[in-house]
Amino acid sequence: MNASTQSPAGIVSALQRASDQRIWLKVGRLFDGHQSRGACHLVLDRQAILHVGSAPPPLLVRPGQISPDLDLPAHTLLPGLIEAHAHLFLEGGELDPTRRASYLKLPREELLARAEPRLERLLRLGIVAVRDAGDRDGIGLALQRRNESAQRGAMPHIESPGAAIHHQGRYGSFMATPLEAQGGIEAAVAARVAEGARHIKLLATGIINFEKGTVTAKPQMPSEELLRAVAAARSHGRQTMVHCSGNDGVANCIGARVDTLEHGFFIDAEQLARLRDLDIAWVPTFAPVQFQLDHAGELGWSSTVRDNLRRILDAHAARLCEAARLGVKLIAGSDAGSHGVPHGHGFLRELELMEQAGLSAERVLRSATGESSDRLHLAEPSGRLAPGKRARFLLTNAPVLDSVRHLRAPSIVFFDGEVFTGGDDASRPGL
Ligand SMILES: [Zn+2]
Repeated sequence: MNASTQSPAGIVSALQRASDQRIWLKVGRLFDGHQSRGACHLVLDRQAILHVGSAPPPLLVRPGQISPDLDLPAHTLLPGLIEAHAHLFLEGGELDPTRRASYLKLPREELLARAEPRLERLLRLGIVAVRDAGDRDGIGLALQRRNESAQRGAMPHIESPGAAIHHQGRYGSFMATPLEAQGGIEAAVAARVAEGARHIKLLATGIINFEKGTVTAKPQMPSEELLRAVAAARSHGRQTMVHCSGNDGVANCIGARVDTLEHGFFIDAEQLARLRDLDIAWVPTFAPVQFQLDHAGELGWSSTVRDNLRRILDAHAARLCEAARLGVKLIAGSDAGSHGVPHGHGFLRELELMEQAGLSAERVLRSATGESSDRLHLAEPSGRLAPGKRARFLLTNAPVLDSVRHLRAPSIVFFDGEVFTGGDDASRPGL
């Protein structure tokens, strides 16, 4: 090995050799999706990771090879990130309310054409998998099909629920279709599965009323209905991803043993313990509410609303720390596509907010990689550095295990033999 091998261009060209051969890396720090280690070896080819740990046995490396292709003592290697709650059909970075409203009226082909360029940008930010959270027009399903095709191009792995399921006249018509139109909850679930849904998205409640500082509407799905939805989803081998905020709604979700509780604002400490006991994972989605507070002036919010937002976010942060202490499964998802939450950059913001709430950088990274991967059972297994997992990872010389804000520094992203550098320009519109 010579010094030029260590230059950024040298690192990239060494990694690119994995397109047709095994390569052997040694890095100064490695986060495997659950925990960090010091100096560590990794052997991989374009398909998969073959070895993680101490110096690999000779059978695993190329004939005659006696030292790593890359020895990077100042670099950290970590699994590619999993964004577990994003609406790929929406443009979260579009802040103007009128333009947001007219965006929703665009024809399906146009929505799809605008969503597609987001995919490579997500990959460049280190996001290797996205669990979509639903849209009415089949945009997520179309992207999922592109993912499965031979001409997938540069894109993260995508899993979509198709349209979310809600009740006629209740919250969510922009992303859901009503179960009343489909003859009941079991039929609605079966219809989603027939369309290709990888998970079932349910809208169990409305959203927070910022003026009142609470969830004012009654839950839209009672516990029995959620129970039937969960049973129906499981009978098709699907998990349930359930939008829910407010204490009553959370109680219904717990009663139904949903797979992942999305948002979960106003959850209480006792309910957190029930999540842990019943193995329900929590996706807290700070970013859209934090945006409302950070931009309260432009949004015209009164001082009462600002106080409400601050109180809601402070309580949510305290609950997140309590959940981590109790051992609740935590999964990172930003609700990208929501007002003020651009895809990709909004996810990095979500990770920063989880850290600011009081979690360590490693705990946050676990929720964006290993814990998410273990729970979501993605069809293409990523999010962990372990033999048999896909070779999809980030290589960076920024101290990301000390603070997730260093994920903003462009990483080298390795995805099945392809190498991406340079990150993504946040000021470019479209996300
Ligand atoms: Zn959402």
